[in-house]
Amino acid sequence: MSAILKTEAIVLNKINYGDTSNIVNLFTKNEGMLTAIVKGARSPKSKMGSVVDPLNYLSVIIYNKESRDVQLLTSADIISHFPRIKEDYEKLQYAHAVLELTKSLIPEHEPHERLFKGIVRILELFNSSNNHSGILFGRFFLFFLEEIGYEFQIEKCYACGEENLAAGDLAYNYDLGILCSNCKNEHIQSFLIDAELFRLFSCLKNNGIVESIKIETISKSINYLEKFLKHHVQNFKGLKSLQLFK
Ligand SMILES: [Zn+2]
Repeated sequence: MSAILKTEAIVLNKINYGDTSNIVNLFTKNEGMLTAIVKGARSPKSKMGSVVDPLNYLSVIIYNKESRDVQLLTSADIISHFPRIKEDYEKLQYAHAVLELTKSLIPEHEPHERLFKGIVRILELFNSSNNHSGILFGRFFLFFLEEIGYEFQIEKCYACGEENLAAGDLAYNYDLGILCSNCKNEHIQSFLIDAELFRLFSCLKNNGIVESIKIETISKSINYLEKFLKHHVQNFKGLKSLQLFK
């Protein structure tokens, strides 16, 4: 079956194809992930060539045929191109990490509107907010994990159910969840969580205000979330976009 699909889309990446065309990965509001060709995108006359560029938020028309691997993009207009992200190297790296997570973990042709809205929202925040990009990304990462079915569990100790975890030295087990200081030695510890790291995870997860956190703790939190995801999804190899920060 084929259909003319009019939807919103975020451009995840693009590669050259043939003499003048591009192949792009799009995350669309109505159809989820799609691969599409933009014919003639690299010819000087093409208007779509510069519009269909990674990070851009577009209104698109796609000739969509599910039996085909590559769909045909026939029209694209900019909704937002997030100019402040593109002029700030750190924002850009984290925004690319959002695109990379989506491209690596979301299968094609499966609509996922909540995630689509979450991605638009995080890109808008990177573009407009002065919060540290790592904190914004950490919040998104936890949301993303929950959306794909791997919630990062920190509400209570897996073993004894203790909910007051703020004071102690804690540990995390990738398969079980968080462990309080009394229970942690009886289980495999994937990594340790000190009070500051716990406070950060807790703020990220519950939308609290993150105050006076060391940059190293922010990097550490993202690093552990990557390891958590690698543990659960074996073909996920980590985020290339963030490698320069480590
Ligand atoms: Zn416990």
